Amino acid sequence: MLTIKAVRPEWVTLVASAFLLVGFNFILWQHLLVITAADGRGLLLCLAFAVIVFCAFNLVLTLLAFRPVLKPLLMLLFMISAGVAYFMAQYGVLMDAGMLRNFAETNATEVRDLLSLKLFVYIGLLGVLPSWLLFKTPISYRRWPRELLSKLLVGVASVAVLGAVAMINYQGLSSLFRNHHELHLMVVPSNYIGASFGYLREQVASAKQPFITLGEDASRNPAWQTHARKSLTVLVVGESARAENFGILGYHRDTTPQLDKEAGLIAFTDVHSCGTETAVSVPCMFSNMGRKNYDASKAKNEEGLLDVLKRAGLDVIWRDNQSGCKGTCDRVTLQDVSNLKDPSLCANSECRDEILLQGLQHFIDTLDKDTVLVLHQMGSHGPEYFKRYPKEYEHFTPVCESNALNNCSRESIVNGYDNTLVYTDHVLSMLIDLLRANQDKVDTAMLYLSDHGESLGEYNLFLHGTPYMLAPEQQKHVAMLAWFSDSYQKSFAVDTHCLQMSRDKPLSQDNLFHSMLGLLEVNSKVYNQDLDMFASCRSAVIDGVLARE
Ligand SMILES: [Zn+2]
Repeated sequence: MLTIKAVRPEWVTLVASAFLLVGFNFILWQHLLVITAADGRGLLLCLAFAVIVFCAFNLVLTLLAFRPVLKPLLMLLFMISAGVAYFMAQYGVLMDAGMLRNFAETNATEVRDLLSLKLFVYIGLLGVLPSWLLFKTPISYRRWPRELLSKLLVGVASVAVLGAVAMINYQGLSSLFRNHHELHLMVVPSNYIGASFGYLREQVASAKQPFITLGEDASRNPAWQTHARKSLTVLVVGESARAENFGILGYHRDTTPQLDKEAGLIAFTDVHSCGTETAVSVPCMFSNMGRKNYDASKAKNEEGLLDVLKRAGLDVIWRDNQSGCKGTCDRVTLQDVSNLKDPSLCANSECRDEILLQGLQHFIDTLDKDTVLVLHQMGSHGPEYFKRYPKEYEHFTPVCESNALNNCSRESIVNGYDNTLVYTDHVLSMLIDLLRANQDKVDTAMLYLSDHGESLGEYNLFLHGTPYMLAPEQQKHVAMLAWFSDSYQKSFAVDTHCLQMSRDKPLSQDNLFHSMLGLLEVNSKVYNQDLDMFASCRSAVIDGVLARE
């Protein structure tokens, strides 16, 4: 039977502060050693940083070191910090409100993808074991006045040491913080505590916002009257598809063998995302706020592109094979196909993206309204890339078959990821072929846009969700493709030759809202022609019908 001698609370806070500093922050120390000079001065700076963080931890814990609080608080910190340290070590995750939102809006399949034996080892060794030791350790508190006095002394000492070290190293530390904003997102546990407050603030702000409608004046342009057929505009929202790995965009591997052969396909080379995670990018690209003015709490309470299209009289359907539309489809028809039981496409409560095309022919055969169909892909969702495609699309081997990416070679991770794109190539190509085959019946078109990119080990980062300011290009540079049937080009006055010529123009998800309104000939004061990427490529005269501009 383990018996531990009773200790004073100040010893508990000192030991706990040291443990938090050393046990959960190895990623921080690793990073600090890389970004500071490799000489004695750099080492001294790291040491000063450590002392300051230690004193700050100790100060806060001392203020909270009361009988009913201290033990449960520390146990909770150990448990959560263990999980956070795991994700930071495994995927290079930085903790901010966005990352927390990302976790909060993740569905069960995505969570399952992230669980691993290693995570439980982390939680066991860094969470459960120290919590148990703490539980077994009796803490002897003094009588009130003396206890308060001792806390005051420890607090003052902590502040004094912190202040002295900060002052002596002021220059080095201030330039370190100025140049490395990521540091405050790396200190466990203050990073996730700060993130929690940020996320909570966002939720409260969102709950207080009044609901705002958008484009109440939206109507269809008279040009619609010249259309000979109904139209189907398909907007595919991709997942984690970075431009860099698309064969059709110049990647050294042919990850898009079928799309390469699609006649009339336009591949845009310079498109950037609004965020680095689904929970930002998806609501942002469907809103008219643009990246610079995007506000998550506002987006939740404001209509977006799909509402305006619907108000203009189009049928809007969101078909989802992922974790939902993040509020963007709340007022249009939602078809969740991610949990269907199709034995050829679905297993383990997940479906391949081809499920998005199921029944599409019948849908076109019976189409009686002009329709915008959004298809939300599972795409290249990590870390378990190998689960996203059927075996026959495994063009590149060997493949990492673990969600603990740093157990795998870089090459096998990239192989798995590239295979997801080979499968996306197949799905998009199938879609285009289907749309082309029906172009005499219905005006058909497809626009594909990925939500954000993905890191595959560059700068030791994996997955995505790095704060935008710090995120590498791979998380922001996304693929965008467009295809218009001949009949659609005529009806909607799209000059694809012109688009093909301007495919290198810098574009971003800020363009989606206005480009869709422009393309679909919707009149509204919320439309901004400057952001409509199709505006300069609207044909002047087509089949004798004068264009509208
Ligand atoms: Zn995403």
